[in-house]
Amino acid sequence: MNLILLGAPGAGKGTQAEKICAKYSIPAVSTGNIIREALKNGTDMGLKAKSYIDAGKLVPDDVVIGIVKERLSEDDCKNGFILDGFPRTIPQAEALDKMGVRIDKVVDIEVPDEKIASRLSGRRVCLKCGATYHLEFKKPAKEGVCDVCGDELVQRKDDSPETVLDRLSVYHEQTEPLKDYYAKTGKLVIVEGQENVEDTTALVFKSLEE
Ligand code: ADP
Ligand code: ZN
Repeated sequence: MNLILLGAPGAGKGTQAEKICAKYSIPAVSTGNIIREALKNGTDMGLKAKSYIDAGKLVPDDVVIGIVKERLSEDDCKNGFILDGFPRTIPQAEALDKMGVRIDKVVDIEVPDEKIASRLSGRRVCLKCGATYHLEFKKPAKEGVCDVCGDELVQRKDDSPETVLDRLSVYHEQTEPLKDYYAKTGKLVIVEGQENVEDTTALVFKSLEE
């Protein structure tokens, strides 16, 4: 199964990607995580991306398209994958089509703007393994410590309130048009993001079985 997860920043794409990954045994490909990893390792790509990420802007299309092309050609994507955070612009979606990548479903997780700010401000992440948590909605077993790898949890720089507003406007301008793009192909399913992660997951799983 080849899937795309759409949704505003903080809609819970990453969390749902993990759940789908566990249930269907297909890898989650998160462009955000790949870029943050490159940033941490100080690669050329990471350095180029840093100013965009920190400002809440999108990294240039050619950079992310290159990342995804490379990642999808790896063996573990042969039986399917979940794209989390890609495509985020129409040119990215067109590039995916041009690569000849067949998409089975596009799940759009809808969360109203009013709820996004608190979701993002409470978000905590593990920079080592990429796991995400929330102070209120998705607490780790031990405060400030990653359940998966034991590393310290931190707040992402781009989750600061000033940057969140920029990311939301970028989302509405550049990413939201993808809903139409995929609605036209008949692949789009819309899931309303719920207060509880598990409730959203149940709706996402249901949408995948339809
Ligand atoms: P969120 O979904 O919470 O915004 P991500 O981890 O997916 O977080 O993305 C964080 C940042 O990484 C984005 O604000 C952007 O700068 C960059 N990024 C990730 N995916 C893409 C993409 N497909 N195109 C351009 N930039 C991207
Ligand atoms: Zn971790």
